[in-house]
Amino acid sequence: MYCDVIIDQDAKALDRVFEYKIPDEMDIDVGMRVYVPFSSRVLQGFVVGVKEVPDYPPNKIKAVISKIEDFSAIKGEMLELMKFMAEKNHLKLASILRLFLPSEMREGKVKQLFETFYSLNDVDFQPAKNAVKQRALLDYLREKGKTSSSVLGEMFGYGAIKNLYEKGVLIKEREEVVREPFVLMSEDKRVKLNECQQNAINSICENKTYLLHGVTGSGKTEVYMNLIERVLLQGKNAIMLVPEISLTPQIMSNFKARFGGLVALLHSGLSAGERFDEWKRLFSGQARIAIGARSAIFAPLENLGIIIIDEEHEASYISESNPRYDTHDVAEFRAKYNACPLILGSATPSIESYNKAVNGQYQLLELPVRANGREMPSVQIVDMLNELRAGNSGIFSNQLLAGLVNVVNSKKQAMIFINRRGYSSFQRCRDCGYIAKCADCDVSLVYHREDERLKCHYCGRQYRVLDKCPKCGSEHIRQGAVGTQQVVSKLQEMFPDVKILRMDNDTTSTKNAHQKILAEFKNTKPAILVGTQMIAKGHDFEDVVLVGIIDGDQSLYQTDYRSTERTFQLITQVAGRAGRSASEGRVILQTYSPKHYVYKFASNYDYKGFYRKEDNIRQTAQFPPYTRILRILFSDHDENYVRELLKVCYTEIEQLKYQYGDDILYLDAMKSPIKRIQDKYRYQIMMRLSLNHADEIEAKAFDIVDRASKTSVFFEVNPQNLS
Ligand code: ADP
Ligand code: ZN
Ligand code: ZN
Repeated sequence: MYCDVIIDQDAKALDRVFEYKIPDEMDIDVGMRVYVPFSSRVLQGFVVGVKEVPDYPPNKIKAVISKIEDFSAIKGEMLELMKFMAEKNHLKLASILRLFLPSEMREGKVKQLFETFYSLNDVDFQPAKNAVKQRALLDYLREKGKTSSSVLGEMFGYGAIKNLYEKGVLIKEREEVVREPFVLMSEDKRVKLNECQQNAINSICENKTYLLHGVTGSGKTEVYMNLIERVLLQGKNAIMLVPEISLTPQIMSNFKARFGGLVALLHSGLSAGERFDEWKRLFSGQARIAIGARSAIFAPLENLGIIIIDEEHEASYISESNPRYDTHDVAEFRAKYNACPLILGSATPSIESYNKAVNGQYQLLELPVRANGREMPSVQIVDMLNELRAGNSGIFSNQLLAGLVNVVNSKKQAMIFINRRGYSSFQRCRDCGYIAKCADCDVSLVYHREDERLKCHYCGRQYRVLDKCPKCGSEHIRQGAVGTQQVVSKLQEMFPDVKILRMDNDTTSTKNAHQKILAEFKNTKPAILVGTQMIAKGHDFEDVVLVGIIDGDQSLYQTDYRSTERTFQLITQVAGRAGRSASEGRVILQTYSPKHYVYKFASNYDYKGFYRKEDNIRQTAQFPPYTRILRILFSDHDENYVRELLKVCYTEIEQLKYQYGDDILYLDAMKSPIKRIQDKYRYQIMMRLSLNHADEIEAKAFDIVDRASKTSVFFEVNPQNLS
């Protein structure tokens, strides 16, 4: 017998199937990992096929050396998924397969965790009078029973343990310990579903994609849990994705409370060992619900009954580093393979997804009111230019300050949100709010410090930096934004006795830091939590009555066509933090562009109105979902090589214009905005395609690039971030 093997190496030259002979005495199944000889080395590989007749002459085929594990780590569905992703995302086979296994397993680093335990042997023994520690240890074991070596060692010293063990007084055992990720505990609060929730659940019965549009606080989590419960009763399994688990500890604890050990967590905050153990629990069927960030979509579960993507609009569902893929595509594939429904949930669906719902590709389900019957908090828009004119040049408007004083006096809580997305990258007039935009593309220009230029990230056109506002002549040009630290210290000055907590990248770099900060906030009154995007997500704090948004515009003037959409999403999410329980909530939104349509729609919670406007703009300006943007990114240590490659590919891709004419709306080659990352030079080809022949043109462009290049080239469709 022979087998097809994909070598576990991330190299373009090895990106194909190699044939090996299966030794007679060896049992090999599809999906197993094996050691194989390659050139003069021994490499790991994945068996993707077994066959009787090889394609190569049998005498030229080497034999498999040994199996790595005795089971198929990659199951049939995942091999199909590999083919799908290779085709769709132009990825290398090995780099896809790697996504399916915990990296610890591939590197063979994580061994099962065993610990030594001691208990009392049934012998008569009296320690010496002066052996105080031995005596204490024996007393402890008599009371508590079997205890781990590390606990005993810590309390009584390892000398005492060793001594007693050698005398035969202790029994030693090695036991496997399963590492359980840390989860805040909570009670399982079962609620009676309201009519909307019940309707949504009843509607979800077919094998298709549903878009669950539910306002913040409408009880989507409860819907998810009920759906999953139903699926478990059918004997099937479930995957539920959340944008970033450490940001949504509450969802986690709710699921653990309801489903206990059936839940497994997969996310980046886990230690290598924890992740491996969680993977194993899913693989073996011990756990049947995989919850996690993006990568949990690859959970080793068979027989899926439902896949849920919560906060489906979040950018984190798109992998922006190699291997690049969109979780939605993978979820759709798995849902189809398992013939199960796919649920996309959000209070602010992406324009693309809502467009599909409008077109009937997705079925729309709505939860239009908050589950607890509370009103949405009122949103007040404050014009910061007015504040400036009135002599207030500080970070906080007078309205926000007055609001904070109120919160403090009434011993409640407030959140201050600082938008850091795309910060410092654009230039703005402080007096009239003017922002420099590209004349060709209608997106804001990015300020590049190193060569003192403003650049358009879509077409590459360059502009001089502003020293004076072209609109009002003012010289007060500002770049960048206020930081969390600055806001915290200002607040602390004004409210010396109030606890001010800070949550941003700096304060959350250690394990479980998020949970600790959130737990402290929960227990402190009055208190103000200052934070970035991290505080915008599903936290449920009863006493937050005021939410301040320092600089709503930050994401508005980003440099991509999704900027306005992102702003709408952020405001809605952040506003959803206020007044979730009995007290009335209020949101104060500070902006330099109060007239922008996004604020009108966001402050009225008018998603549909916003969608219609935005969808219209996308159509007129020829942006996705009405076109496809394709970025082909070349990067290499050798700048001459990349430049040459770029030229060759560009010239050939340009020929496609003869065939496809107007279907290629835009085509250009340029340096990437970040010209060098990790000492690799970066160049790119940008294309905008009409949807008529987008797949075809993309495939041809890929072929051209693939043939010309000896290294990897990255293809990105509608990229989130053009750095
Ligand atoms: P979403 O995820 O849609 O923002 P959540 O699922 O966090 O909303 O629910 C908001 C709050 O409403 C939670 O505290 C939840 O326990 C509560 N809740 C959900 N469904 C109901 C219901 N049917 N009746 C009463 N409270 C509910
Ligand atoms: Zn101006
Ligand atoms: Zn441009």
